[in-house]
Amino acid sequence: METADVVIIGSGIVGSSVAYHLAQAGCTNVLVLEREAHQGKGSTGKSMGGVRAQFSTPVNIQMSRYSIDFFSRFDEVVGHPADYRPHGYLFCATSEKHLAYLQANRERQIALGVTNVEWISPQGIAEMIPQVRVDDVLGGTFCPTDGFVDPHSVMMGFMLNARAHGARLWLDTQVTGIQVDPGSADVPSASGAAFKRRSGGREDADGTSALPALDGRRIAGVMTSRGFISTRVVVNAAGPWAAEVARMAGAELPVEPLRRQLVPTEPFDQLPRRFPMVIDMSTGFHFRREGKGILLAWNDPEETAGFKTEFDTTFVEKILTHAAMRVPCLAEAEVNPRRAWAGLYEMTPDHHAIIGPSPNVEGLYFVNGFSGHGVMHSPASGRITADLILKGDSDLIEASQLGAERFASGKLLEETAVL
Ligand SMILES: Cc1cc2nc3c(=O)[nH]c(=O)nc-3n(C[C@H](O)[C@H](O)[C@H](O)COP(=O)(O)OP(=O)(O)OC[C@H]3O[C@@H](n4cnc5c(N)ncnc54)[C@H](O)[C@@H]3O)c2cc1C
Repeated sequence: METADVVIIGSGIVGSSVAYHLAQAGCTNVLVLEREAHQGKGSTGKSMGGVRAQFSTPVNIQMSRYSIDFFSRFDEVVGHPADYRPHGYLFCATSEKHLAYLQANRERQIALGVTNVEWISPQGIAEMIPQVRVDDVLGGTFCPTDGFVDPHSVMMGFMLNARAHGARLWLDTQVTGIQVDPGSADVPSASGAAFKRRSGGREDADGTSALPALDGRRIAGVMTSRGFISTRVVVNAAGPWAAEVARMAGAELPVEPLRRQLVPTEPFDQLPRRFPMVIDMSTGFHFRREGKGILLAWNDPEETAGFKTEFDTTFVEKILTHAAMRVPCLAEAEVNPRRAWAGLYEMTPDHHAIIGPSPNVEGLYFVNGFSGHGVMHSPASGRITADLILKGDSDLIEASQLGAERFASGKLLEETAVL
């Protein structure tokens, strides 16, 4: 029978990062299962590739800080290009409320070590990008180390490196079920023991693992289109399909898919060759350069949850209206709707990821619900998940705050800086 110390369901940027971080820590008997014939067919391949530390909650700021530093060293450390471009993120406020919000966020960001977030006047914004209309802008914030990465390349880099260290990737392999056995808190985890033996890590006196044991039922393996795989640890990295995968183990996960549409313009030379991601806080419209054209994004408040991945052509007119309001010359940009695309955000009720062990199934780990931030937080989330599996805690953040229990206990973390 096929066995693995850890089975990861989903080979997008998040599953790939978990595989990389496990392998780096010496846990190499890792099997990643992907139902598609290629990696990146989920949300990762649809992403805008934005990375930013300008968040409102400490945990998101901390995860960004770790991740952006990681992206800046990615090519050297992982041996593959991340195409990190520190072009910055520029938030523009048109109301006193948004101005105060940016001020408070900036203070929090600086206190948490993101010391390069600058306050910027309307004149400063106009100097940076003269084409942006600033007559109603009161001010903004700019962080020069925010910017963009190539999500596909980051995902490939993580996975290639993990595979070079022994992790396996099975494509065309659909997970159809998760086998869960009745368990008890006293049962040691075989996978942890196996890892610790190979890595020379500490074992308990009885030779078993010191992995944290949870009360309740216990993972025994996964059923797939290629047969059963025995394992004691399953990582749910199934992106927008995370709730469906959690249900296979009898666990509830509040992750909903939400369509998100992006519109690239045809080549457009009326904006600078290089400029930051610009966010118009009055509408949520934001844009950045993508090659010779401009990539336009806007979160349509009328969008409803569901697995909708077709691009709605009526969206073009809506987004161009917002674009022309903030950047009048964009009224002249040409758009071919056939080049536009839609993908799925994986939303949680408080717009924060769910990372950590399932409260009721021992050996099941979640790394889900990034609510639009899964690319930028992939280094941190992979590291935290590997830490939790191998050590039971993480020194990167206080991980329990991202646990799935928070929804039952009412300890929600509200992130309002969602684009
Ligand atoms: C339009 C758009 C723009 C975005 N822009 C940004 C951005 O600028 N910055 C940012 O940080 N984030 C952004 N995001 C969000 C980001 O793309 C996601 O958070 C991230 O890609 C999630 O990665 P993942 O690996 O968890 O999921 P995915 O990439 O969706 O990977 C999950 C994988 O699991 C596989 N899978 C699912 N079920 C099974 C099963 N039963 N068996 C086997 N395999 C299975 C799927 O096939 C898929 O390959 C954007 C998203 C969209 C849609």
